[in-house]
Amino acid sequence: MSEKLAIDGGVPVFWERPLESYLKSWPIPYPETEQKLLEIYRSGKWSMCGKYEQLLGPAFAKYQGSRYSVWMANGTVTLECALLALGIGPGDEVIVPGITWLATAEAPLYVGATPVIVDVDPDTMCIDPKRIEEAITPRTKAIIPVHIYSSLADMPEIVKIADRHGLVVIEDCAHAHGCKQKGKGVGSFGKVGSFSFQLSKLMTAGEGGCCTTDDEELCDRIHRLSHIGSSRQHPGTTPDPSLMCHQYRFTEFQAAILYDQLAHQKEVFEKRKANGALLAELIRDVPGIQMQKSAYDDDERGYYFMTLLLKLDELHEGVDRKKIHDALAAEGFASFYGWGAPLYKSVIWNIPKEKYILRDTPNCEEIMYKRVLVKMHSVLLSDRECIEKSAEAIRKVMTAYAG
Ligand SMILES: *Cc1c(COP(=O)(O)O)cnc(C)c1O
Repeated sequence: MSEKLAIDGGVPVFWERPLESYLKSWPIPYPETEQKLLEIYRSGKWSMCGKYEQLLGPAFAKYQGSRYSVWMANGTVTLECALLALGIGPGDEVIVPGITWLATAEAPLYVGATPVIVDVDPDTMCIDPKRIEEAITPRTKAIIPVHIYSSLADMPEIVKIADRHGLVVIEDCAHAHGCKQKGKGVGSFGKVGSFSFQLSKLMTAGEGGCCTTDDEELCDRIHRLSHIGSSRQHPGTTPDPSLMCHQYRFTEFQAAILYDQLAHQKEVFEKRKANGALLAELIRDVPGIQMQKSAYDDDERGYYFMTLLLKLDELHEGVDRKKIHDALAAEGFASFYGWGAPLYKSVIWNIPKEKYILRDTPNCEEIMYKRVLVKMHSVLLSDRECIEKSAEAIRKVMTAYAG
């Protein structure tokens, strides 16, 4: 006999204490950062690669297992500069997944290239290597895999395909700060890694972005492209005439905030990871639902969203995502549908059809319209009791509606 669901008049799982009361504020404020921000404010050195940008650059690159990093205004222009630095432009095709933020596909458009949108894996939501291979043409130049909602794409497989066809890989790591696959930091598998520090991300300065790379020459080109032609390594020299450079600088205020977050990153990352693993363990045998998987079971993943995927074939007749969402909400476990749509059906995607190529993407549609339920990562910064109650709510609803 299953318990009476709250939506049918039963007692909600989060009855005594609402889930929101367990949540910590995000982003987390640190007292030492307040000191640094005041110091910078009084110094007047607010930009132009000051002390904290110089400290942050090598520290973050090392954290991700890369040699260099170049800092910019956001994680969209980082993708644009990576493509430009790699010589990608008009006439070239860039393969991207159908579930991602707009930036992944708009960056190729900004440089005049054509994004080719392919399907994702039904368990990881990341680009499916088989679909990459099918989409390659003589015009293909690059692949941009995305570690979506912090589940990691299958990088060894993607790099193998890229090498076989002479393509470059740019990793969109906007959700994957601190994540590792096979012991190697994300952003270090491809030619360039791209990170975002926008407000919702796992490390944030309100806005911000960086490219990571092991290639000194590429690092220099990316720096010139984002700093109106000037070079860190060769100050006072002229950029290659083929580079159309931009002004995409980052500020000292952002650098100081991220420098302190990086120092706390280990504890914050470990907490999310431990709570994510606990929830996964607690709902492992619950019917009709699974946690979003990462390409490999031993991936060191974060959780941009704490993402659940319904197993549609296990749901009872007449039960769909909305019914489950509403029943969970009645238990006090409110969730949402991620970004609500695949990239190319987002309400803010206004790109004319002739400017991109859309391959068959049934998994993107099924996931975004029927299967995904997410919570923001802050739920994983709560305590054990909150995670146990969340698992209890999920178990209660799914036991009634599936299996
Ligand atoms: C957030 C995000 C970006 C870039 O974001 P900005 O807001 O420009 O910093 C790129 N790719 C993905 C997948 C993202 O979620």
